[in-house]
Amino acid sequence: MQPVALIIGITGQDGAYLARLLLDKGYRVIGAIRRSSTLTLPRLVELDIVDRIEMRALELHELPSIIRLLRETKATEVYNLGGQSSVQVSFEQPIYTGETVGLGTLRLLEAIRLAGGQARLFQASSSEIFGQMEACMVNEASPMHPRSPYGVAKLYAHWSLVNYREAHDLYAVSGLMFNHESPLRGMDFVTRKITATLAQLACGSQTVLRLGNVDAQRDWGFAGDFVEAMWRMMQGEKPQDYVVASGQLHSVRDWVNRAAQAVGFDLVWEGEGVAEKAYERQSGRELVIIDRQFYRPSEPHALIGDASQARHKLDWHPKIDFDGLVEMMVQRDYDRAKAGGDWF
Ligand code: GDP
Repeated sequence: MQPVALIIGITGQDGAYLARLLLDKGYRVIGAIRRSSTLTLPRLVELDIVDRIEMRALELHELPSIIRLLRETKATEVYNLGGQSSVQVSFEQPIYTGETVGLGTLRLLEAIRLAGGQARLFQASSSEIFGQMEACMVNEASPMHPRSPYGVAKLYAHWSLVNYREAHDLYAVSGLMFNHESPLRGMDFVTRKITATLAQLACGSQTVLRLGNVDAQRDWGFAGDFVEAMWRMMQGEKPQDYVVASGQLHSVRDWVNRAAQAVGFDLVWEGEGVAEKAYERQSGRELVIIDRQFYRPSEPHALIGDASQARHKLDWHPKIDFDGLVEMMVQRDYDRAKAGGDWF
């Protein structure tokens, strides 16, 4: 029988890559979308898969509508990639974040249980749930202490899932995903903001790249590799949670330097803290400035994900490294800037 995947969050970066992967594997793919008058699916258009996905309206607030959708579609695998996904935004919208990310996941678990408990569930969890850790290497057994409303909401979702697995025997798994980026990343995220702005600057734009804490460090991987891990987690005999990470730490400054180099800028940094800036050596033109508004009220420590379980048990091996990722994103943004087309 053809497997049926229901993807919640189909319009986002991970939704698009996952949909392509599952279509290539022969799945019937159903995309759950919120009812909205202006439906735009630029990521699915970019991957050329929009016509191969069945779109269905879904409100995660409406428990009966989730149950109905599960029954009607007979989904065998449900991927929950939905909800407000920006840490920065979560400091301004903590309640909305808690609603969509935390309670949204609980409703989904309850709907799967009420619909008969047959569908498997993948929950996109986040390294943000670890947050405040002394050790810098994190694995599935590490203690959790989130540092943002987003992290708190993801932690609630994570423990709800574990509880449903233990109490109701659902096949439900939590992917403890470290940052993962791609040319389909939204501009709210620092990586895409950097590659898109530097590409525009290289194409003659007069803008300036405004950033917050450039010394913040993250473990960044490629989203296309991460969706492969999601799918593998859903094929196991027993449900198990996994850390999914590149295992390498880089700073925001590393992103700026690498992306600048890729578009041909030789950057010189000068000053300290909010007075720091970077200019181009040859022309002396200011390209990067520090802007207090992009600092966070609190940040997680620099954490590296230990994905050895995923490597050994899921045979998961990411293909794109840090340099490859930055180059892929800058190149795509450069092409977009040259073409003068739509941005997302
Ligand atoms: P996150 O790890 O999910 O919060 O991913 P982001 O891409 O939003 O942020 C990654 C890191 O970049 C965080 O430590 C931010 O503090 C830092 N950062 C520095 N400047 C900026 C900025 O202008 N925008 C964002 N979003 N993050 C920034």
